[in-house]
Amino acid sequence: MARQQERRTIHVDGEWREAISGATRDIIDPAVARPFAVVAEGDEKDTDLAVEAARRAFDEGDWPRTPVAERAALLRRVADLLVRDREELGALESRDAGKTLEEGRVDIDCVADAFRYFADLVAAEAPGRVVDAGSPDIHSVVVHEPVGVCALITPWNYPLLQASWKVAPALAAGNTFVVKPSEITPLTTVALIDLLAEAGLPSGVANIVTGPGHSVGARLAEHPDVDLVSFTGGLVSGTKVAQAAAPSVKKVALELGGKNPNVVFADACTTDEGFDTAVDQALNAAFIHSGQVCSAGARLIVEESLRDRFVAELARRAAKIRLGRGTDEGVECGPLVSAQQRAKVEAYVASALEEGAILRTGGKRPEGLGAGYFYEPTVLDACHREMRVVREEVFGPVLTVETFRTEDEAVALANDTEYGLAGAVWTADAGRARRVAGRLRHGTVWINDFHPYLPQAEWGGFGKSGVGRELGPAGLAEYRESKHVYQNLAPKPVRWFAG
Ligand code: NAD
Repeated sequence: MARQQERRTIHVDGEWREAISGATRDIIDPAVARPFAVVAEGDEKDTDLAVEAARRAFDEGDWPRTPVAERAALLRRVADLLVRDREELGALESRDAGKTLEEGRVDIDCVADAFRYFADLVAAEAPGRVVDAGSPDIHSVVVHEPVGVCALITPWNYPLLQASWKVAPALAAGNTFVVKPSEITPLTTVALIDLLAEAGLPSGVANIVTGPGHSVGARLAEHPDVDLVSFTGGLVSGTKVAQAAAPSVKKVALELGGKNPNVVFADACTTDEGFDTAVDQALNAAFIHSGQVCSAGARLIVEESLRDRFVAELARRAAKIRLGRGTDEGVECGPLVSAQQRAKVEAYVASALEEGAILRTGGKRPEGLGAGYFYEPTVLDACHREMRVVREEVFGPVLTVETFRTEDEAVALANDTEYGLAGAVWTADAGRARRVAGRLRHGTVWINDFHPYLPQAEWGGFGKSGVGRELGPAGLAEYRESKHVYQNLAPKPVRWFAG
């Protein structure tokens, strides 16, 4: 892409620019471990300029006061442009994040859906809520206003999708923003900024600073002129963001990691079809995008009587997953995103084996795939809750297996995590399905399914999986302040004070 070659990937007040320092960063194709683009490596100075532009656009510009119907129309134009550029953007996402081409395309479809959803949501809303103040002389209404300048910080696994869950509601609500994509996978977010301008967004409303978390991200989180920081990423960085944001008492939304249980009762597998479905979905839950998914079903919690048969079939199928470069024909799973990520996964598998886990398949780098950061889908049996690999987010193609005998035990194991993002229960018993779903302490619970989400349903976590929600009406509410306007139509003295 021309812009990356130009190294002008910082967008401030409608202009593309290089980093003030002149620093650049190579963007690596993880399937071949070679650079394929260069971006500007911004720092605190670039960040300050971007916040200043967003502040000016909010305080003096038209966007916050643009009628809702016009804002919604702009979001719909963005969705149309995403559909127009689907192939190019999908291929770019595939190459940058190491996912298959089809996954890249599906990501872009989901991004367009997010823009359409938030356009429809704001367009359908009443302008305010009239409150009955108990007197005909009082007119009382609660209205929603944009929060102001938003800092949007995103991770590398679903780069444009995670950005769109923030950008679309932020714009729908009338905010201005500075987005900071992951330094590893910034390219599609850079491309989105061009699409927003093409759709007619005024200069200064959408700004982007490419660069690392410790400088750009940290400055955004602490900046006194930022009113809200919405962060998606890991627990360690998320905690730092919350700490940096505290002194300026800005609004904070955190979408963090997960250690998600996939609970399978034997009664779900009494027919061949039921067994095949549960195994197939367990495979998908754990290994899609090489397990680099916040909601990955990384903990299989299976009824003991079913374990041997289930794990044997799962391991047989996991061993057949075709790894390779995401753009190559027939490839089902790409590499890990970086050498660092693969090293982390390898360390978790080594520690699990030391602690007594039994390797059913995988556990090593595949042969014949060159220098790319590939790792085989791995199934670790005989795991228990004291193991690090069971407790901590691995964020790679590693599935642990635990077993249970009773419903209570299954629920206890599923909830035994500091996270609480998502989980699933597989059962043919409708009563059990409802009971277990009701007891799971996770932000999304699937019954006889895994992974689907809906733009109209809230996404987010219990516990250390985060604070706040994305998507759904609550995902829009994050980007708004409520204002109560109380009008006295017949004012009189109150005479509280006699003199
Ligand atoms: P990360 O925490 O390393 O980085 C996320 C973003 O934060 C990046 O843009 C990074 O540059 C920035 N950052 C890092 N340190 C920072 C700091 N001190 N201040 C401000 N910003 C900082 O996460 P990652 O490795 O990019 O992504 C993987 C993580 O994201 C996993 O834990 C995954 O579960 C999580 N995730 C969660 C969701 C969700 O919806 N809950 C979705 C996707 C990913």
